[in-house]
Amino acid sequence: MATTKKDIRALSKEDLRDFFVKQGDKAFRGNQVYEWLWQKSAYTFESMTNLSKETRELLQNNFVINHIEVDTMQRSKDGTVKNAVKLHDGLIVESVLIPTATRTTACVSSQVGCSLDCKFCATARLKRMRNLNPDEIYDQVVAIDRESKLYFNRPLSNIVFMGMGEPLMNYNNVIKAIDKITSPEGLGMSPKRITLSTSGVPKMIKKMADDDVKFNLAVSLHSAIDEVRNSIMPFNETFPLQDLKEALEYWYMKTNRKISYEYVVWKDINDSQKDIDAFVKFCKYVPCKVNIIEYNPIDDGDFQQASSDAIDNYIYHLEKNRIVVNVRRSRGKDIDAACGQLANKS
Ligand code: SAH
Repeated sequence: MATTKKDIRALSKEDLRDFFVKQGDKAFRGNQVYEWLWQKSAYTFESMTNLSKETRELLQNNFVINHIEVDTMQRSKDGTVKNAVKLHDGLIVESVLIPTATRTTACVSSQVGCSLDCKFCATARLKRMRNLNPDEIYDQVVAIDRESKLYFNRPLSNIVFMGMGEPLMNYNNVIKAIDKITSPEGLGMSPKRITLSTSGVPKMIKKMADDDVKFNLAVSLHSAIDEVRNSIMPFNETFPLQDLKEALEYWYMKTNRKISYEYVVWKDINDSQKDIDAFVKFCKYVPCKVNIIEYNPIDDGDFQQASSDAIDNYIYHLEKNRIVVNVRRSRGKDIDAACGQLANKS
């Protein structure tokens, strides 16, 4: 049945307190409900057992609790878990749990589809349908935290915004979700364990710096030469590298925190010495570290992973310039859960 009731999780704690005061009840009732909604992730009003029956009915008559459902869950041979998550309106996004010896990381989505058009990414082929609400981002984290406890006997330790979507094109909701994730009234996670990954929207990087956010920033760079970057990430024409550089300098000046660059090396695209030199130069603008990501083929072969010699050459020149480089092996490839493979296929 179609409902016009308001999603209660769109209300702030203050809004909830006001609601109860207007009903002639105590403001404190709002705190209790808020705790059920966020810290305890209650999905029904009936389950809010310290509220009277009348209060639960009042809530039931006025609100709904929109929530996600894990529609299908796949487990990779390497332990990676991929959730296809159904939203209240039937749309699907994906999130991934990545276990290692020392951590479990949740890779969460911020949009249904993506606003950007990176040529090598499967998600970019989906139309951007809509932004996720803060609660839909939060719920992905809760679901993965539960799975982490269930399958690996430990809570989630890290979160990366590297699922579907461009988080800086859904800035307000992503920030609201992170506020809830880090608040003691939510999941109480340290922002140091959260990384937001962006293709690089300069204006929004500056805004994040001004907002004094405490989480980490990763930039999917892939090339430090405009013509090359334009050809693989066409939005770079709108946000060229010079603007990105200035935004990153601003970020560092304000936050004093290193930036991570995500970088895939492709054959005949960015594997020449010229590409390496440009990247090394870019890495010197602000303190950074580099994650070289393995390419996860998505189809016809326009893009191919560069040779290991080419990758070694990158590592050699970066390290020679005292830039920290990690080479990240892909996880969950067999279930299309690796970087750039999220495309609602299952
Ligand atoms: N839009 C944000 C968040 C997505 S993160 C961003 O671009 O940062 C997903 C990461 O996987 C990005 O670094 C992206 O460039 C990378 N990626 C996309 N397609 C890939 C592929 N086929 N193989 C490897 N990495 C890919």
